[in-house]
Amino acid sequence: MQELVERKPPFLAVLLGPAYRRTMTSKARQVGLLGGTFNPVHHGHLILARWAGEMLGLDEVWLIPNRRSPLRLGEPLAPAEERLAWVEASVRNEPILSACDLEVKREGTSYLVDTLEELTALHPDTAFTFIMGADSLNTFDHWVKAERILELVDIRVVPRPGDEAGPALASLEEKLPAAGGKVTMLPESPHLDISATEIRNRVQEGLSIRYYVADEVAERIEQGGFFRNPS
Ligand code: ATP
Repeated sequence: MQELVERKPPFLAVLLGPAYRRTMTSKARQVGLLGGTFNPVHHGHLILARWAGEMLGLDEVWLIPNRRSPLRLGEPLAPAEERLAWVEASVRNEPILSACDLEVKREGTSYLVDTLEELTALHPDTAFTFIMGADSLNTFDHWVKAERILELVDIRVVPRPGDEAGPALASLEEKLPAAGGKVTMLPESPHLDISATEIRNRVQEGLSIRYYVADEVAERIEQGGFFRNPS
């Protein structure tokens, strides 16, 4: 409990210095974006999203389920509309978190750059920050229009527990100089060591996923019969 009290944002902002404070901007609102397949969304995602929002002093964090990721093929993928419904159910009672349906509504492969072009045009009053897992540092320079992405948003990278992400960031800056100052690390987050893969495996083995995901998500997965059979 004490630790939770000590983790509140003003303490962190003071402790960690200017790197983790709100981006300097004239925009009225600051919104964090957490993209993912969310197949399914779980409490690890939700804790990360809210923590990053608090850490960066953001007004909101939007979770964006993709329709089809350019990086993932050949896994049992629930329909995009259903994955969006799971995210919506998970954030319903959390004021700082919302579900964003842009990628689910757009046909075809979901490219971040397209989403950011749409979001920045739709919300000119908003400064967006993209929250990204450290594993993506190794591939980011190959993302479609990576330099344009960096013009549209700042990126904050969440390190994996115990992982030294500095070298991966330095290597990205070498390959993509535009990343310098635009892609920065967050401190280690309160990581919950669960993944959507583990949840899908549990369903397939007939094990409970209660407490891994929001209750309504567990119910919808059970009632819809998702992930019961291997792909
Ligand atoms: P899978 O097991 O299918 O690879 P996943 O659980 O990693 O899925 P994604 O939809 O790929 O889920 O993740 C979306 C984002 O959430 C990524 O940036 C990822 O790094 C982050 N993330 C995933 N699991 C966790 C977790 N347990 N704690 C914090 N962040 C997480």
